[in-house]
Formats: sequence, C-alpha cells, structure tokens
Amino acid sequence: MKLLICDPTDIEAIEKMRTAGIEVDVRDDISAEELMKVIPVYHAMVVRSRTKVRQPLIDVAKNLKLIIRGGVGLDNIDADYACSKGITVVNTPAASSVSVAELTIGYLFALARKIPDATASMRAGQWEKKAFSEGTELTGKTLGLIGCGRIGQEVAKRAAALEMNVLFYRRTKTDVPYATQVSLDELLAKSDYISLHVPLTEETYHIIGAPEFAKMKDGVYIINCGRGGTLDEAALYEAIVSGKVAGAALDVFEDEKDDRGKKLFTLPQVIGSPHIGAGTVEATARVGGEVAELAIAFYRENF
Ligand code: NAD
Repeated sequence: MKLLICDPTDIEAIEKMRTAGIEVDVRDDISAEELMKVIPVYHAMVVRSRTKVRQPLIDVAKNLKLIIRGGVGLDNIDADYACSKGITVVNTPAASSVSVAELTIGYLFALARKIPDATASMRAGQWEKKAFSEGTELTGKTLGLIGCGRIGQEVAKRAAALEMNVLFYRRTKTDVPYATQVSLDELLAKSDYISLHVPLTEETYHIIGAPEFAKMKDGVYIINCGRGGTLDEAALYEAIVSGKVAGAALDVFEDEKDDRGKKLFTLPQVIGSPHIGAGTVEATARVGGEVAELAIAFYRENF
C-alpha cells in the first residue's frame, strides 16, 4: 500500500507504518496543485486540517481507498463523495479532547485575571498593580457548555474541580458527571462563562448570535475552542462594544484563511490563539498513534 502523508504527522507513527510494510511518502507541506498531480498513484492519504480533500481531488485519485484525517471532524474532506467512490474515510475523534479541554480551562483563568494583558504590560516595563487587581475568582461561578460530548465533558470535569457550577446544553437528554443539563435559554440566563463545544453543522451555525447575547447576563465571558462559524463574530463584536460581554477567548474563527477574526482583535477584551486546541505534544503523539493503527489495520485487511 502506498500512503501519502500530506500534513505534519508524528515521526514514530510514520516509522510504525513503515515497519508494518506500508510504503510511506512524507510530503507534509505539499501544495494543493502538487497534490492533484501526485495523488493518482496512492492508495491512502493522511491529512490533518491543512489539506483539503474536495471532489476534484477525489476524482483524480484513481487508486485511493483510504483517507485518514488525524483529528476531530471531517470538515476539510468531502466525506460523502469519497464514500460514494468506495473510499473509506476515518478520523481520530478522541485523541485531542484533553488538550482542547485544557486550553478552554486556561482561557477561563486568562479571562478572569487578564493574564495576557498583565504580561503585555510587564513586557512594556509597566507595574500596573492596581489596574490588574480587579480580577475575579472562578470558584462559585457558573460555566455553561454549549455541546457536551468528548471535549465538553473533559471541560466539565475540570471546571467542577475548580468548584464552578457547570451547566450544559445539548440536543439529547444525557447524564453527564459534574454537570447539569438545562435548556439553552436557562444556560444563557445563568452562566457567567459560556464555552462552545459543538461541531459546525447547519443547526449550530451561529448558535450564539445577537438574540442569544440579549438573553445572557451582563458581563458574561465567551470562549470558543470548538469550531468557527458556531459563534456569530459580528454579533460578538457588537456585544463587547455595548458592554454586554466582558471578554472573549477565541481559538477558532469563521474564516481562518483570510479574516481570522481580525476585527475582534482590535478590541482589548478579546484574547485568542491560532486554532491550537489540539496543538500539544501529547495530542500529536496520540493522533499519530491512532493514525498508524488505522492505516495498519486497513493495510492488513485489504492488501
Ligand atoms: P462530540 O461529537 O463528542 O460532541 C459534540 C457535542 O455537541 C455533543 O454533546 C452533541 O450532542 C452536541 N451537539 C451537536 N449538535 C448540536 C446542536 N445542534 N445543538 C446542541 N448540541 C449539539 O465532539 P467533541 O470531540 O467534543 O468536539 C467538539 C468540537 O470541538 C468539534 O466541533 C470539534 O471540531 C472541535 N475541536 C476543536 C479543536 C481545536 O483545535 N480548537 C480540536 C478538536 C476538536
């Protein structure tokens, strides 16, 4: 089996696949144009989020039988179309849950105590002790989770350990340790912090927008380490300018290629990162390990 690695992948995982007998080529910065040219000879490909596997690529990938997406979600793959062509599409949904949950918890503290701003002030040679002594504690505050699957539940566990009161909203009735299920309206009305952990679907597009901000407490904080597009960024901007929202921490953006939430970052209340939720040494190794296992199992069954 000839397998092409299209995005950065753990080196140990690559060695494991080679040892199992898979012919692995690593082109982890390959351009879309170059990929169109080389893909016809490959039986399998590994992508993370950078490489897009759309219909035109699938049409020229005459030998392709397996697409492995290292990570959560299949947004960058025309998965239904690939399946219709007999291609198996798999991913590693649980490998990065803890990393994303930890980033979310980090943002709770960063917002409550303005840690990024205080650091910037120190770097600028200032000693603004008074300005940065008006933070708040997380203990006793209410955290509302929109979506409570793998990542949401890891966040709930950690937030409960911080003695936060954790509410969650999801479509189906579910028992989640450390958290109480409520309606979306109740969550919006009661939460001091609201954190999004839903995938981007037609239903969740702008699940938090102007009507939802209107139902929130004054001074609420918003965190999005889920998917861009679930939060209406224009509405968030207005809600911050009006004073309704006290601050926001964003790891994901509706348009990550060009806009990257640039307007929001003109506001001092907004902190963020370039989609690094899964970007830890541990998650990368775990994703790599799962990618290798999926590739080896497929190779043994089909070649
Ligand atoms: P999951 O499938 O385990 O959980 C998703 C949750 O959303 C579930 O509770 C589900 O019931 C809920 N949900 C789905 N549609 C809903 C709707 N219309 N209304 C209410 N609730 C709804 O997924 P997960 O592994 O927890 O991942 C959550 C999100 O985090 C995904 O979108 C994923 O892409 C994103 N993510 C981000 C990063 C990052 O780097 N920031 C990394 C990994 C995953």
